[in-house]
Amino acid sequence: ANSSHIKKEQIPELSKTFPLCMRVMHDHLISYGKLMHDGRLQYGTFLKGIGLSLDEALGFWKNAFSKRVTSSEFDKEYAYQFRHTYGQEGKGISYDPYSCEKIQRTFPSGKEQVHGCPYLWDSERLEKKLLELGIDPSKTYDIVEASKTQSRMACTKHFHFLHPNNNNLTGVINHPNFFFEQSKIYFK
Ligand code: SF4
Repeated sequence: ANSSHIKKEQIPELSKTFPLCMRVMHDHLISYGKLMHDGRLQYGTFLKGIGLSLDEALGFWKNAFSKRVTSSEFDKEYAYQFRHTYGQEGKGISYDPYSCEKIQRTFPSGKEQVHGCPYLWDSERLEKKLLELGIDPSKTYDIVEASKTQSRMACTKHFHFLHPNNNNLTGVINHPNFFFEQSKIYFK
């Protein structure tokens, strides 16, 4: 259940404390102006889950894609998928955000792939991304080590790094939207 709404303009700032899977896709989308179908599904349903309306989503994605496609190309080739995700096309099924388990099962990690769970990447790639995000080397080491056996524990460690002295989250991250909700409580 989500009663709050967010505006597309808030996404860049919010993305700084997104779970790593969403952060990776967001950064890629902004840098390259593109995200593959599965990435649009994974990131798009997450954004929907944090309170982005269909109209806001269409504006956000169109703007992000504008490096590569015109507004009318976007309307023709990409808008459908987002309307579909929000239940406005096809059978009218509205898509829920994916859990960690579903993300890891549906989008097994591939070389250079940006959707899926980054804690399933090889250690070198993961380490590079974490350092790039300004996580200190010892914490990065700790997260990378955890990722080798427990991806969601690694994600939980990242959460604690982004939210120091947090005492609300006691368990392990099992859903990217749960990560976001916990972050929201922390910064409230
Ligand atoms: Fe995303 Fe879950 Fe992986 Fe964390 S553990 S990066 S929330 S899929």
